[in-house]
Amino acid sequence: MVCPRCKSENFKKNGSYTSKSHRQKLVQRYYCRDCESTFSDQTGTLTCGERKPYATQLVMRLLMSGVSQRRCAKIADLHPITVARKLERLGLRAAARNLEESTLDSIEEVIFDEMETFEHTKCKPVSIPLAVEKQSRRIIAIGVASMPAKGKLAKISGAKYGARDDDRKEALAHVLECVKNAAPGIKVIKSDMCPRYPNIVKKTFGGQIKHITYKGRRGCIVGQGELKRGGFDTLFSLNHTCAMVRDNLKRLSRRTWCTTKKRGCLKWMLDLYVWCHNQLLLGADWGMALA
Ligand SMILES: [Zn+2]
Repeated sequence: MVCPRCKSENFKKNGSYTSKSHRQKLVQRYYCRDCESTFSDQTGTLTCGERKPYATQLVMRLLMSGVSQRRCAKIADLHPITVARKLERLGLRAAARNLEESTLDSIEEVIFDEMETFEHTKCKPVSIPLAVEKQSRRIIAIGVASMPAKGKLAKISGAKYGARDDDRKEALAHVLECVKNAAPGIKVIKSDMCPRYPNIVKKTFGGQIKHITYKGRRGCIVGQGELKRGGFDTLFSLNHTCAMVRDNLKRLSRRTWCTTKKRGCLKWMLDLYVWCHNQLLLGADWGMALA
């Protein structure tokens, strides 16, 4: 343990207090001799300062199991705002954990693609670039970007909400940058034949790795773009992961009432999902707590 303010180990015990929200737990306090600040065992933990810390892990599991935020509040007997605040904390913490745990020298093959959803209305589409390791189906990186509306909605969207930014390039470049850092031994990267991809891959990796593209295929069930029709699916690891994301996050399900209101909150949800996917679902240890 070190002082959270100056990272010094020169501190002493400084009394204790009973936490009312942590079941009357006795919490040790400390005094740092270097920066003369005080801190406790609670400082910097996921539930630090929360009034309902006991519900945090349950909220995480419910939100990651296809339950909406409002229904999660009803099940856990919380106020919806409590759930929203917990989601922010969990999302930020999960993002930090994902970064710590992402690096693996054994990663050789990575598949990436973009999913689409929207914020507030279908006139404001959102793109979700993600990269998956082929062997283990671990999600290496995920992002969120705004994109302009397509097809019939483009005109309505422009008239109602004005021109919409297209951040897809930057977001995908960031995801690939994360892949580059997390997988120093990467040899092959695969994707579909989107014309925007080859340039971004070249810019990030230079000529060092092989970029293989496959022709996109239609979904086998109406409204399920992830599960492809017929034969061997070359991008199976990615499509399977996307299907899992859509199934486990209520707001990304097809034909649901539940929508994303803000892009930032969607990012927290996705970061938290990546942690759950890699640690709880693939790791097969559902009981593990996010700390
Ligand atoms: Zn200090």
